[in-house]
Amino acid sequence: MDVDVVVIGMGPGGEEVAGSLAEAGLSVVGIEDRLVGGECPYWGCIPSKAMVRAADVLAEGRRIPGLAGTATIEAGWAPVAERVAEVTAAWDDRAAVERFTGKGGRLIRGKGRISGTGEVTVGDQVIRARRGIVVATGTAPAVPPIDGLAGTPYWTNREAIETKELPESLIVLGGGAIGCELAQVFARFGSRVTVVEAGPRLLSLEEPESSDLLMKTFGHEGIEVRLDAKAERIRHDGGFVVNDDLRAERLLVAIGRRTNLRGLGLGAVGLDEAARFVDVDDRLRAADGVWAVGDVTGKGAFTHVSVYQARIATRAILGEDGPPADYRALPRVTFTDPEIGAVGLTESQAREQGLDVRVYNTDLANNTRGWLHHAEGFIKLIESEGRLVGGTAAGPMGGEILGALAVAVHGEVPVERLRHMMYAFPTFHRALDAALL
Ligand SMILES: Cc1cc2nc3c(=O)[nH]c(=O)nc-3n(C[C@H](O)[C@H](O)[C@H](O)COP(=O)(O)OP(=O)(O)OC[C@H]3O[C@@H](n4cnc5c(N)ncnc54)[C@H](O)[C@@H]3O)c2cc1C
Repeated sequence: MDVDVVVIGMGPGGEEVAGSLAEAGLSVVGIEDRLVGGECPYWGCIPSKAMVRAADVLAEGRRIPGLAGTATIEAGWAPVAERVAEVTAAWDDRAAVERFTGKGGRLIRGKGRISGTGEVTVGDQVIRARRGIVVATGTAPAVPPIDGLAGTPYWTNREAIETKELPESLIVLGGGAIGCELAQVFARFGSRVTVVEAGPRLLSLEEPESSDLLMKTFGHEGIEVRLDAKAERIRHDGGFVVNDDLRAERLLVAIGRRTNLRGLGLGAVGLDEAARFVDVDDRLRAADGVWAVGDVTGKGAFTHVSVYQARIATRAILGEDGPPADYRALPRVTFTDPEIGAVGLTESQAREQGLDVRVYNTDLANNTRGWLHHAEGFIKLIESEGRLVGGTAAGPMGGEILGALAVAVHGEVPVERLRHMMYAFPTFHRALDAALL
């Protein structure tokens, strides 16, 4: 079969490139091994945020005493499982497939592999791509080689999202964004949760203050966190036992994500198959006639990164102009409560880059809305040469307040200008004013 473009992997990045190119009139084949839409709508962002929303509602209910009277809360997992089945269409990708084919694209199910310059093979079908190949194969849960783990019925994000039953107790390996979000969800529904993190803090890539805040909240909510704690041995005897002294009904492995470049045939176009990520330039080009987008590029494992890159790759393939990829204002949100929104550089990253840094900090308890809300959180801003290069908004709706910080970092707005604008009173984002003063 001869076409213009072949896209391998139809997650958010692949779907965006393939759909846009098909809409632009190119003949496009998308190859997908599992479900069109990828991790985000079926086992990632969307169902996990449905779970977070349910857990947050419970937490709000529990805040009634002292603010609005009394409440009896009886948590139940059944509506959560039902809502997850609804938002994932019970793990059925028909709507996504129709979206793509409706734009003129052709879908082939199976595992795609580059078999030569401008050539992809799926099963025994060979497809020649006149204009290019796009690799958008994403990531899968990383499972560490811990003694005793293999062969046990441990959970990754996929089983945790699909569960119809609330576990009585849960050990979460890994205190990153996925581990923290799911730990809090299950704990708020009544599971006894322990987070085991090998490093010295939670959310290791974010500001240490974000970890401190989550440690405090998790402490109040009865979530045990073991830092600097490496899982070395795991036993399954009906339940899970980690390092002989920690026991729970379920074990969730959330230590990170891994790409799998082996078997993709990247060597056929001169790329390194042993690498962790596909190396791309600022137009997402990996080799002559080959582009890569999404988690597989290692620029940030977020849906918004894949879609952003996909739009740039689309323009490049169509030969259109446009700005190159720019990751200075990469936003990240951990949807815990308090929510941790961050953009650009952390203080230590900025210092490591040798920047001359000025740091602003304010506690949300000193902000009127924060005080009214009984909120815990903070805003931390990193300035270099009169412009913000990073910031964290932690607290209620931290990810929404982040929008203002992302605009400031992306638009290189002078701090002096931010200092002399009005911030609506009494909002959480008005804490930016306090921070800058
Ligand atoms: C629990 C969880 C929560 C998350 N929450 C958020 C969030 O709130 N916000 C956010 O921005 N991000 C979130 N993410 C991350 C987000 O899901 C990913 O960054 C995003 O899905 C990456 O998109 P992608 O296009 O790179 O690939 P993926 O979504 O990984 O999709 C790649 C697709 O390629 C297919 N594939 C792989 N190899 C082949 C092959 N050889 N042939 C054919 N098909 C192949 C796979 O089956 C898969 O469908 C979350 C992730 C998880 C696990």
